[in-house]
Amino acid sequence: MNTVRAVTELRQVLSPARRAGAVIGLVPTMGAVHEGHLSLIRRARRECDVVVMSLFVNPTQFDDAADLEAYPRDEHRDAALAAELGVDHVFAPSAEEVYPDGFATRVSVSGVSDVLEGAQRGRGHFDGVATVVTKLFGMVAPEVAYFGQKDFQQSLVIRRLVRDLNIPVRIAVCPTVREPDGLAMSSRNVRLSPSERRRATALHRALGAAEEALRDGERDATAIAARATAVLDAADVQTEYFTLADPDDLRPVERVEHDVIALVAARVGRTRLIDNQLLSTALEPALPAAAGSHTTDTGRS
Ligand code: AMP
Repeated sequence: MNTVRAVTELRQVLSPARRAGAVIGLVPTMGAVHEGHLSLIRRARRECDVVVMSLFVNPTQFDDAADLEAYPRDEHRDAALAAELGVDHVFAPSAEEVYPDGFATRVSVSGVSDVLEGAQRGRGHFDGVATVVTKLFGMVAPEVAYFGQKDFQQSLVIRRLVRDLNIPVRIAVCPTVREPDGLAMSSRNVRLSPSERRRATALHRALGAAEEALRDGERDATAIAARATAVLDAADVQTEYFTLADPDDLRPVERVEHDVIALVAARVGRTRLIDNQLLSTALEPALPAAAGSHTTDTGRS
């Protein structure tokens, strides 16, 4: 495995494989690699001939300078983990390589970028993501790019931009990898104190409470969200949003008639965490033990 810093060099090292018709897969990351990232790499390794992992803490998607400053960085460790899993090339450009003097273009996906993370973190966040991902697609020209469901809204923004700009790349979205107690893995988890780390499980438990409410037959989104936020409140976690939305466009849902995505953002101390879970209306309430034969009427509309 080699680490490549310049776009010209990246094109050179990929060119023989591309000419030979190899399938090139890209796993974009900001480093501080954890099992979530590794699951993307493993899938890319299974499905592609050549795997490129990019490692770039993209300054333009940070709304908070302190967050950018505190973002964990350990390129040496990340590259070693990537090599262990069979990544062919780590692409770790400098900020100047990605944004040279005079850089003046911005990719902005309206609609799906405007709500939730876009509203909380500001418009610039998803513009930063969309711009850097478009650039990575231009630099690597992969057949497939791998993203995590952990950043559900981001995956929708990327799917939209690929469709809108006719970028010939297939987007694969991989399930969220969790700690044994349910906390979604995140590079930011290392910032949690032991007590915050325990309280942080509330995000996952809140999503579970929403799922349970739905299973109990509750269909009112506000009532479901109230049950979920009660879990966050009880753990002294500051909810930024807990929303049920249409998984295709993130439009908020008032009554749950179809499958929805539940999305949560919350602060545990100074650390901001996000999580999400698809909730299916196919979840039926547990049948009463002596329900007999007339169990088809669940009492729900
Ligand atoms: P990041 O380095 O945080 O930008 O993440 C790089 C990629 O890894 C993104 O596509 C994330 O959605 C994905 N990712 C981050 N955390 C997880 C996780 N716990 N499970 C699965 N994918 C993840």
